[in-house]
Amino acid sequence: MCQVDEEYNGLLESPVASSATKKCNKCKETTAALVLKPGESLCRGCFKEHFVHKFRAMLGKNRIIFPGEKVLLAVSGGSSSCAMLNQVQEGLGQNAHKKLRFKPGIVYIDEGCLLGQSTEKRQKTMAQINSLFKMTGFPHHIIPLEMVLNLPPSVLEPVHLATDDPAGSYKEAVDHFMQSSPVHSVDPRVDRSELSALTDATNPQLIAEAQTQTLQELFSRVKTLTAKEDLLHTLRRHLLVSTARTEGYSKLMLGENCTRLAVKLLANIALGRGAQLAVDTAFCDPRYGDIVAVKPMRDYTAKEISLYNYMWNVPYVFIPSLETKTADKSSIQRLTESFVVKLQVDFPSTVSTIYRTGEKLQTASVTEDIERAPLKCLFCMCTLDTALASLRPDTQTKCGAPCDQQDGEEHCQAQAVCCSHKGGDSMNLESLLCYSCQQTVKDMTSVEFLPQYIMSEAQRRNRRSQIRHEISEFLLTEDGDSPSIKADS
Ligand SMILES: [Zn+2]
Ligand SMILES: [Zn+2]
Repeated sequence: MCQVDEEYNGLLESPVASSATKKCNKCKETTAALVLKPGESLCRGCFKEHFVHKFRAMLGKNRIIFPGEKVLLAVSGGSSSCAMLNQVQEGLGQNAHKKLRFKPGIVYIDEGCLLGQSTEKRQKTMAQINSLFKMTGFPHHIIPLEMVLNLPPSVLEPVHLATDDPAGSYKEAVDHFMQSSPVHSVDPRVDRSELSALTDATNPQLIAEAQTQTLQELFSRVKTLTAKEDLLHTLRRHLLVSTARTEGYSKLMLGENCTRLAVKLLANIALGRGAQLAVDTAFCDPRYGDIVAVKPMRDYTAKEISLYNYMWNVPYVFIPSLETKTADKSSIQRLTESFVVKLQVDFPSTVSTIYRTGEKLQTASVTEDIERAPLKCLFCMCTLDTALASLRPDTQTKCGAPCDQQDGEEHCQAQAVCCSHKGGDSMNLESLLCYSCQQTVKDMTSVEFLPQYIMSEAQRRNRRSQIRHEISEFLLTEDGDSPSIKADS
């Protein structure tokens, strides 16, 4: 389906000149308002129908979101996630048989602290976002990025749920929902007053100055924009998952579109994130266990979304990010983006081919194995692609040269966390990270400002692997082999 829209070159038919004579290809009655691809013009009504259908089809096909389930929509204020929010609103307002039946809530993470924004500026943005969210009547959570510093280490542990037949349980949930609630009862506006009590946005003033500084200190220790973006993505995701857990949501809905995912796929390859390709770009991302992340906008192109938002007045807010106003070559992500955008202009269907390739990729990580649960990357929570190397029991020297207090500095420039004295205590962070997250940490001059929940969990895992190493010779493995932990020692 995406393929069709890729052909669309993003230009509205000039309303007066060319389209005046053209009829919509679908209904053959109304005057066409836009060209999806050469020879295929649609009127406003048919374009809307096509757009709405795609959203419902994506959710319907995957059957992952159950009726009555609480779903947290991650809305950045940008066009794609605001279009997603709009589709959910539309879906809840639909007539009975087409109606979406889950319970949405919205979360926005304010990253103003990383852009050096003043408190006033941040409050202004949050007020804009707040009024945007209020209009929906959905519960909403506006959270400053600083809140990531308060997360518990447990956020880094995937929570494993007993999985029975998903198709069967989906049907059961639908049946249960139909029996327990009259069809018309789930108007999102009904309990608005009740909701508003829950929706009080976090006041940015409650964020201590010290926390803002800690976060700024952390990012000032990251040398490249590539690594900054990667670290921000990691922290933001931890905060989203944690918010979903504490607020009782079981699904996280992300607004990433087809163009975005094509960029991500190529950037991931460049960043060495081969092991994560499948989960990062698929509709469903199960890496956190109890909170499943879904991407219902993945069949839409960025231009298709802009066009829809423009034609149907979907409100969104422009919010600058780390990447805003940076040069094409300032980071791998940024360079990939400009490559894909240029590619889209000349070879439109190539972009959907790129992201569809991601779908075909499968990794062993899809089959979750509780036994292997500790071998998840501390940062991105994907299965460790560095597992064998990470089982090395020596936690002191990593940079290939003996590390001592005097000349340690020099090796540590390149290998920020390899040396025990660098992070303050004996900590081998590297062994707990996937290849790609290792690169991010290597681009940091120091890890001392990493949030406490990450450091505590790292210590716990290190202790655990230390103990496992110590007792390894007394353990028997299932295949009768010597324990795998000895493989590298
Ligand atoms: Zn039409
Ligand atoms: Zn990782």
